Amino acid sequence: MDRAYTLPPLGANPSSTAAGTTPGSFAVPPRIGPGTAGRWTFSSPDTPGMPQPSDKTAWNFLPEGWSTTAESGGRKAEGGCVTFEQSDGTCRSVSFPPDFEPVTQLEHARVGNITREMKRVAEREPHLTAAQVRDEVAAGRMIIPANKVHLGYKLDPMCIGRASKTKINANMGASPVSSGTEEEVEKLHWSIRWGADTVMDLSTGGDLDECRDAIIRNSTVPIGTVPIYSMIIGRKLYDLDHAAILRETEHQARQGVDYFTVHAGVLREHLPFVKNRLIGIVSRGGSLLAKWMIDHGEQNPMYVLWEDICDIMRRYDVSFSIGDGLRPGGLADASDRAQLAELATQGELTERAWRKGVQAMCEGPGHVPFDQVEYNMKLERNLCHGAPFYVLGPLVTDMFPGYDHITSCIGATAAAYHGASMLCYVTPKEHLGLPKKDDVKQGCIAYKIAAHAADVALGIPGTRDRDDELTKARAALNWEKHFDLSFDPDTARAYHDEDLDVDTDFCAMCGHDWCSVRISKEIVEFASGKEDDYQWDRAKVTAALTPDQQVILEKRGVLSPEEIHRLAAKTRKAVGAEDGKGSCHSDYVETDKARQLQDATIALVELEVP
Ligand code: SF4
Repeated sequence: MDRAYTLPPLGANPSSTAAGTTPGSFAVPPRIGPGTAGRWTFSSPDTPGMPQPSDKTAWNFLPEGWSTTAESGGRKAEGGCVTFEQSDGTCRSVSFPPDFEPVTQLEHARVGNITREMKRVAEREPHLTAAQVRDEVAAGRMIIPANKVHLGYKLDPMCIGRASKTKINANMGASPVSSGTEEEVEKLHWSIRWGADTVMDLSTGGDLDECRDAIIRNSTVPIGTVPIYSMIIGRKLYDLDHAAILRETEHQARQGVDYFTVHAGVLREHLPFVKNRLIGIVSRGGSLLAKWMIDHGEQNPMYVLWEDICDIMRRYDVSFSIGDGLRPGGLADASDRAQLAELATQGELTERAWRKGVQAMCEGPGHVPFDQVEYNMKLERNLCHGAPFYVLGPLVTDMFPGYDHITSCIGATAAAYHGASMLCYVTPKEHLGLPKKDDVKQGCIAYKIAAHAADVALGIPGTRDRDDELTKARAALNWEKHFDLSFDPDTARAYHDEDLDVDTDFCAMCGHDWCSVRISKEIVEFASGKEDDYQWDRAKVTAALTPDQQVILEKRGVLSPEEIHRLAAKTRKAVGAEDGKGSCHSDYVETDKARQLQDATIALVELEVP
């Protein structure tokens, strides 16, 4: 039998130094380029039957009075016309009304400007140039959510788009039964500490205005809100009218909110499609607007007012996060007619936002079986012309309440690999209660794992570098460096120290004699500096795992840090390290002495590599 194999076509290498022996990413090679040329950016290979990327970009949806053509020649500008060089060296000419002044990042990109925010984004995404950032923004595939008011506080500009690294969002907000402004600001700092790239204030209780203001002023990351929540505070839903919608939109834009979730895609004609669902409408905004439409017998006011809302958002450069009010709330309702009809409307709303010069991303599900995740991502890139997709999870099973940060992290990894640009975290409290600080941490970490795993898989340059450094520290049994490179060093250290001191050439997982990393190190280097009776051919059962330590292992995760360290200190004695390094440590003897030991006892093996 012929057991030859061939590798699939390779994408980019996520390691800057091509470290290690892996052949590289199995994703599609990235094609970053202006206009439609960049519609593949970083993407997974398509499973047969997947929708292809749209052949349109934001350049196809310019405001009235604008036009664009491919040009030759360098940058020139005259009243109402500019020609500029794009990131691939080609030139584009853009005509616009002579009195036009760019306000939003999208408008600046359309006239060839590279803004300060684009430069900052390129610094934070070292695989992209500022010109590439501009071209992605101009194509509508990337947004820089940066309200001009928030830029005046502490906002550090970032981007959301498939050409950049995958971002994560953390939700927070006071509810009518729990939390207040101070606690929410603390949660904001906590979320940023654990890697949130944006934060949504979803408060529905307490002093909403004060809470929002405090969060914006304290935040270095973009803040998103769902303005309809505030619109119905203090009035009956039935009384919500067009004036109140525009007034609150303007108010929150003036406060400095960077992006708004607006559920304008839920149309009256979609409502019959939810009738046979198991769980109906699970979006707060979607359910409120559905009720309003039924009560009034009118179309969704957000849809009707879209251009007016755009005009307000443009003035402050607030970005859209076009809401998915009909997202599925359970696997049984996924990819159904209601959800996909709304997605098509989200595509229409994206085009209308772009015509108004407003940046837009689209929101997506929700609860989706694992096999349907790719289709959902690739349908969005088609219907919404590659506008960044911002998905909630998705959860890939419904029967693990209390663990939905895990059920959704699995779906989120697939979503990011197949095309999502930002992942909205889910905490262990999902469906059960308002997340507290530790829930926020658990949610953020689960989603950093999802985003990072996808970035490495997609071959985004440099994204594997820290993994490789940690692998090297792990191979060297260098525990201190191992902890330092960990995303959560304290937890890594505490887990390790429950069982053993750091100064050992193994950990309690396998113990000295079964530590494959130590044995491997002996094979490629030298005998880890062990005393004679610690050498590999004279294995000895280590004293490291005492009965006390077995108890510690059983209690892992419930001990306080103080208790962990108190118990860990006892282990120094167990490995004979009370007066210095444990005898098992590679530095226990001089390197030369170790090499002599090895030469004397280990036969060198010449490996023949075909
Ligand atoms: S003892 Fe096992 S888990 Fe621990 S470092 Fe060695 S091989 Fe890894």
